[in-house]
Amino acid sequence: MSNFYVTTSIPYVNSEPHIGFAMELVQADVLARYARQQGIATMFATGTDEHGGKIAEKAAEAKLDPQQFADRISDSFKAILPLLDISNDRFVRTTDEGHEQRAGLIWKNLAEHIYKGNYTGWYCTGDEAFFSEKVVKENNGICPAHNRPYEKIQEENYFFKLSAFGEPVKQAIETGKLAIFPETRKHEILAVIDDGLEDISVSRPKDKIAWGIPVPGDDSQVMYVWFEALMNYITVLGYPEAEDFKSFWPANVQVIGKDILRFHAAIWPAMLLGLGLPLPKALYVHGFVTVDDQKMSKSIGNVVAPKDIVKKYGADAFRYFFLRHIPSYGDGDFSWERLEAAYNNELADQLGNAVSRTAAMILRYQKGVIGSVPEPEHDMGRFETALGQCRFDKALDEVWEQVKGLNQYIEEAKPWEIVKTGDEDHLREVLAYTVGALQQISGLLKPFMPAIAEKIDKVFGSGVIKEQPAPLFPKADRPKPPKTA
Ligand SMILES: [Zn+2]
Repeated sequence: MSNFYVTTSIPYVNSEPHIGFAMELVQADVLARYARQQGIATMFATGTDEHGGKIAEKAAEAKLDPQQFADRISDSFKAILPLLDISNDRFVRTTDEGHEQRAGLIWKNLAEHIYKGNYTGWYCTGDEAFFSEKVVKENNGICPAHNRPYEKIQEENYFFKLSAFGEPVKQAIETGKLAIFPETRKHEILAVIDDGLEDISVSRPKDKIAWGIPVPGDDSQVMYVWFEALMNYITVLGYPEAEDFKSFWPANVQVIGKDILRFHAAIWPAMLLGLGLPLPKALYVHGFVTVDDQKMSKSIGNVVAPKDIVKKYGADAFRYFFLRHIPSYGDGDFSWERLEAAYNNELADQLGNAVSRTAAMILRYQKGVIGSVPEPEHDMGRFETALGQCRFDKALDEVWEQVKGLNQYIEEAKPWEIVKTGDEDHLREVLAYTVGALQQISGLLKPFMPAIAEKIDKVFGSGVIKEQPAPLFPKADRPKPPKTA
């Protein structure tokens, strides 16, 4: 069986982690846990992107040197991993010595596709991105995202021959060698490639941006932050010589947000082809998350931090909400009201209740003895297909069909009536069937809600229930959610 490698994007450390990235971590975590569950050797990497002028600027504002500033924000990203129960194997920082050293090596190995030229154009440090004359004119010289003037740049830079890779990258995407989920994102990037890919500037003069990785053999230039950040996906594996690189590259799935599609579906594959390396097998592109139907912003005052949600509802409920109630193939909305409704109606009343009433009946009618549990009979083909296409929402819909079906089964079989007839065999059969169904459900939920799945296994796993388990999703004692609107 081949190995499985999944990555998240590495967020830029100019601000604290937000719920959109927390969702991305959870999505990648499901894929990693699911692969491990199948017995596949798995590598799951995440990390932080730490160079560039914006970090240097923010550090200066905070009166810290860039490394200290990057350390602080990188730590805040590390801190949400255990909070969300993320099972990553690696955490790469682009200021790690290993990354810096290997990035230099990658640059050298791409040398035949890199040339020196004069760049004339525009740059926004807020985006750490170059802009064309056309875009700058459209916006009257002011970057709308950052409300600051574009900087006119006229400088000697190194360029990467992206134009030479348009055709092969297009072919890889069209033939599905590099699959892109969802389909809409695939069409979007194909249109970009059809428009023509231009060579891109991949360095900045050191006297303008000092906070970066030096260009090998040229002390006057540092690598453009995006160019070197993309390399993290292979430097973290120890490109080119380490065993992990050899056994885990190409990645099976790279999880990204829709705003960085061009970097990952055009530039990154071109770099890999330039290095003579295979392309990742799939890119999964998630959408944006709004809060109360508005873009999160400090000025509106609707910023929700991942830890606020976890504190009130727990990691598994966080994971459940963002995996099922944010569409896997589109944008979605978070609100405390919707989370509260999902928690009460689906988690507590449907799943939690099925577990607690089953346990209660076995305790009351059979002194806690479960009896022999039949093999689960549900074919989970649709669940597997959904997960294979990163449709986390559809996969959970499939599981919930089973949860609802099980509650219905209990209602119809009426164990509380069977017990009155004295038909012990039939009663034992019904309750054991219920336990088998719950065990299958917990197996399916393991990648999504690992702690809850473990709790369900604990209740039924030994064959004897000793006491009524605590509710999986307690409703009382939970502080009221704050109003965000
Ligand atoms: Zn900008």
